[in-house]
Amino acid sequence: MTHPKEERTLVLIKPDGVQRSLIGEIICRYERSGLKLAAMKMLIPTAELVERHYLVDPEWRMKTGKKTIESYLKKGKSPPSEDPLKVTEIILGNLKKYMVQGPVVAMVWQGMHAVGVVRKITGGTEPLTSDVGTIRGDLTIDSYEVSDIDGRAVRNLIHASGSTDDAEKEIVLWFNKEELIKYKLVGEAILYDINLDGILE
Ligand code: ATP
Ligand code: MG
Repeated sequence: MTHPKEERTLVLIKPDGVQRSLIGEIICRYERSGLKLAAMKMLIPTAELVERHYLVDPEWRMKTGKKTIESYLKKGKSPPSEDPLKVTEIILGNLKKYMVQGPVVAMVWQGMHAVGVVRKITGGTEPLTSDVGTIRGDLTIDSYEVSDIDGRAVRNLIHASGSTDDAEKEIVLWFNKEELIKYKLVGEAILYDINLDGILE
């Protein structure tokens, strides 16, 4: 088993994050958490890569469809379809159009609870309801309702892996082995070392 400090997660700054000039602000929020940046690059993804990326989790279609339907019902509105798989088919088509429209920044963040820490800093999927203090809650304003009216994906600045399993599968889609850099950050000692000797002179 790998040490928890080696947990990794994939983050994408989506085309809206790049266009809004938020690359620096977004990286800053992850960086100051204590996680380590293990890889980073800018690219324009193909629709094929986007589809493979979202389908690494075999449950994604069902989960995302159900989550969307619940969100409609909670607001007293009727969802675009009662069938979760139909709902996700529309979302996936829209994601493939959205993600290829401009450059994205792909990153791997590493450290203790990397997946959970990054999801917490990122916030919930829908910017309208994601918590204040999170990237999606603070830095943008989209909703399921408006994205549906306009027939497009929710623009929520970021993708962040949903589990360690997904993360490992996603990372190999976006990065070659040589692009993942193994190095130490001096600050990791205060996060992970058992004995903090050597601080006092
Ligand atoms: P991501 O996987 O991008 O980090 P997430 O895990 O919070 O986001 P998912 O449910 O995996 O959300 O959905 C993937 C992406 O699809 C969302 O980030 C959003 O851009 C888009 N999306 C999801 N649900 C909807 C919806 N109901 N309407 C429009 N777009 C949606
Ligand atoms: Mg997801």
